This record gives sequence, structure tokens and C-alpha cells, in this order.
Amino acid sequence: MQTEKLLKHIVGQNIDDAVNLDLRGYGISRILYSAARSRCKSPLCMNAAEQLKQKLESGGYVFILTGFVFLPHEKGELDGLTGSAMVARALIKAWGAKPVFVCEEKIVSAMKNVLRAAGIQPYDTIEEIEELPVAAAVLGFSSDPERAAQQTTELVSHKTPDVILSIEKPGRNWRGVYHMGGGTDVSYLAAKVDDLFLAYQHKRVPTVAIGDLGNEIGLGSIENEIRAYIPFGDQCQCKCGGGICVETCADHLITASTSDWGSYGLTAAIAFLEEDIDIMPDSALVKKVLECANQNDLIDGSGWVIPSIDGIGLEYNMLLIDVLRNCISYPIKTKEKYKQNFEQVIKQGSYKKLL
Ligand SMILES: [Zn+2]
Repeated sequence: MQTEKLLKHIVGQNIDDAVNLDLRGYGISRILYSAARSRCKSPLCMNAAEQLKQKLESGGYVFILTGFVFLPHEKGELDGLTGSAMVARALIKAWGAKPVFVCEEKIVSAMKNVLRAAGIQPYDTIEEIEELPVAAAVLGFSSDPERAAQQTTELVSHKTPDVILSIEKPGRNWRGVYHMGGGTDVSYLAAKVDDLFLAYQHKRVPTVAIGDLGNEIGLGSIENEIRAYIPFGDQCQCKCGGGICVETCADHLITASTSDWGSYGLTAAIAFLEEDIDIMPDSALVKKVLECANQNDLIDGSGWVIPSIDGIGLEYNMLLIDVLRNCISYPIKTKEKYKQNFEQVIKQGSYKKLL
């Protein structure tokens, strides 16, 4: 039992480390990670995977809030959206979950095509996926506050999911303004899904959020650190003066160098828990999905129309997937072989606090 626990902890930390490698060297991912990790007993991706397993193991609905339409082109971003398709695939493969995507109306069609590239059949309504396997619903949500309020009331009275996942989804700050990472106001472009998130929290639906900066729904859980240490966290570039830090807090966080990497890490942790490597994508699938997103008018966070994530190229994303696959496939294969070593390590006491 103790060896299993130690192995899960070590694999989880390896996954978190891999997805937090700060390739751009700009220091942000380490700040966010240390803030989120200090609030969570276990490594973040593994913790989130265990929470999802608890809620979805025998099937069930997961609402996935994603999509970031940004300036100056007013196009959707690859990061988050592509990762969320991989997460949906993992949740379907592992537990037969039913994902319902909520994103900006203007990127519904791109979201559907990205899901198709990930092997999932998209539908327009929750009813349609009720009896169907390997299917997801994609609901367009309005950027107009009044229309979004109506949609929120309708959806909340109609369906309660078992869990909510928010992935790279811009959230409002305490003054009601949505921001780009650089601190500019993008409120007119963002689907107003914050009240949906809050309404389900009020109904005690558990929430998991993935983000890489602090302007994404759920990251208000680490508000102190975002305001203190993240550029524009406390003082944005627009006249609202409220900073980019969002007001919403999630029950569980994954922070990573990019939100897609956090999503890849989550699929790796689920695959480890289920001891099934096929649950996570391979590098060929990541290539296919990123290229599909790129061909569907989604662009990289760097502003280039290329299949990259926040300026980091396709090849590295494929490499990272291979690294993550190795992080889980080796321990699944070798855990019996090294059991005695583990028992000795535990006996000698260095992991006492953890166990
Ligand atoms: Zn502002």
C-alpha cells in the first residue's frame, strides 16, 4: 500500500515537473506552481486526476469551459482548446464520461473539428450525447452579458454536471473585466461563463481549473501570489485598474507552463491511475490535433498562424507527449520489479512525512 502511494506521488511529481519546465525562461510557471502546490497535498495533475476519477469513474457528465478569443486578430487560441480535446478523449476512454464543451459562439465550429481530429463525434445538444458513446456536446456561449445570463439560467435549470473543468478560459476580475495576459481589456470577446461556474459551485459541483498565468477562471485560488508576483496581476493596462487576476476560485488547480501542457499532464495522470497508456494521446495525435486547430482559424498565442503553443513549436509538444508517456509507462511495467527497493526506501524513512 505504501509502495503504491509513494510510486503515485513520484510519478505525479515527475508529470508536474515535465509540464512546468519553463522553456521561455520567464519565471511565471514556477511562481504559480509553488503557490498552487503549497495548497495541495499531492502533485497537481495526479490530484486532479484522482478527483475526476472519484466523480466520473462510473460515467457522468463533465462540463469543460474553454476557448480564449484574443487580440488583435479576434481569433481563438490553440492553447487550452486543443488540450481540452485531449482531456475529453482521456475521460471518455477511462470512464465513458460525457463531455459538454462551453466556448465562445465564434469558435464552436473550430472546437467541433478539433474534437473530430481527436476521434470524438461532436453534437449540438446535451440530449444528443445521452445515449451515444465517444461523443461530446459543444455549446456556444455569448459574449453579451445579458444573453449569457439567460443561457446560464437555462443551462443550470436544465443540467447539473458531476464535475466542471475550466481550461485556459478567461475569467473576469473583481471589477467584471476580462484581460489578455498583457493586461489589456478583452471583455467584449469573452464568453461570460463565470456565473455558470459560480452557479454550479453553489450547487456543490466540484471544480478543477487549468491555467498558466492568472487571468483564467479558477486561478483566484492563488490570488495573493498572482497579485504580488505576476506581471499585471494587480495592475492591468486598462482603465479598470483591477489587475488581470480573476475573481473565481476552483477547488483544485493545475498550473503549467502552458495550459495545454497541464492538460497533457492530466491525461498522463489518468492513464497512470488506470494503468492504460492508450488513455493519453501519442505524438502523432497531438500533431494531428494542433494542425487541425491551425487549419480551423485558431492561432498560436504568439500571434503566428502556426500549430504551436504559446510560441513553443510542434516538435517540442510532440516530444513532451513522449516524455510524459515514458513517465507513466516505465513505472507501470517495472513496479513489481522494484518493489523491494521501494520498501527499503520507505523503511529508511526519507518519505516519512509523505506516507
Ligand atoms: Zn483592467
